[in-house]
Amino acid sequence: MDVTAPLQSGFAQIASALGCHDDYLVCGHRSPDGDCLGSVLGMTSILRALGKRARPIFSSKEPLDEPFLRMPGADELTSADQAVFATSFVMVDASDPSRLGDAARALFERASFKIIVDHHEAERCCADVCHVDPDAPSATCLVWEVARAAGVPLTAELAECCFTGLMTDTGRFQYQNADARAFALAAQMVEAGADVARIAQSFYQSKTLASCRLEALVVERLELLSNDRIAFSWVNEEDLRRVGGRWADCEGLIDVLRSLRTVRIACVLKDHGSEIRGSLRSKDGTDVAALARRFGGGGHKAAAGFTLTCPFPEAARLLKEALAGALADEMDS
Ligand code: AMP
Ligand code: MN
Ligand code: MN
Repeated sequence: MDVTAPLQSGFAQIASALGCHDDYLVCGHRSPDGDCLGSVLGMTSILRALGKRARPIFSSKEPLDEPFLRMPGADELTSADQAVFATSFVMVDASDPSRLGDAARALFERASFKIIVDHHEAERCCADVCHVDPDAPSATCLVWEVARAAGVPLTAELAECCFTGLMTDTGRFQYQNADARAFALAAQMVEAGADVARIAQSFYQSKTLASCRLEALVVERLELLSNDRIAFSWVNEEDLRRVGGRWADCEGLIDVLRSLRTVRIACVLKDHGSEIRGSLRSKDGTDVAALARRFGGGGHKAAAGFTLTCPFPEAARLLKEALAGALADEMDS
């Protein structure tokens, strides 16, 4: 494997690399979101348009949530635990193999040809060909550009998958990454047939009752720290049992905390029992990815995450300390 491959090979290089092999698995990070699955399904459709064998896979302990299952091609998504090996592997919306989850990671490591298309900050390319652009609003924007470079038809299905990733990763075109490029590419996707109202309804007007009850719970437990500028809350498996929900119902909880007027950084800890997953969001330029990296995680400047295996009270204490420090660091600079 060429560990010295450049981080930004360009779209034409990715397109031509896709054409070089015949049998692909396509996968993104574990606990997939709209950008991850949009990229997986979009990349799979590009490969097939190029006449390749390609299978979309995902890593999750839970079945995929309904909005994901309505994405074009989602019926073919297979859990990585059940996936059959392919000699080539495309990793999307992640650039560190540890983000794939154990089963998909093993398939990635065994593959003899690897491609990475991602928009998370990365230090090096651990594949044969990479295009990693941390300034891209979503990984699906990169997938869309690869499709254009490959000269495959820009179908409504591809547009739908790519628009889903762009809409969800920019928080409905509201976050700092909703730049001119995001809107320009969105226009191309809508032109190609992405149905904005239907996709938005599927993702933002289809809440479960359990997720509403969980929102009530995290608000009830909300701790406001550092003059109300930090919002901290948590949820655990017992809560899920109580409301009859699952982890997918916790996706929007962090947004509720962030939406408070005084809040600059929001943190939700999700206690899965065997591990604690943290979500961080900032809305004032504080780099929460740097904060997440201190706990072995990562992500983007305004949206990041991490996983801890210590007892919950210790995780909560560590986080609250680090959050207060991050705010102080930011004010010093
Ligand atoms: P989440 O809070 O799970 O929605 O994640 C926010 C962002 O952080 C996404 O871009 C994730 O891909 C990234 N992220 C979440 N958890 C981790 C982790 N353990 N390591 C690296 N990046 C992560
Ligand atoms: Mn993602
Ligand atoms: Mn993404």
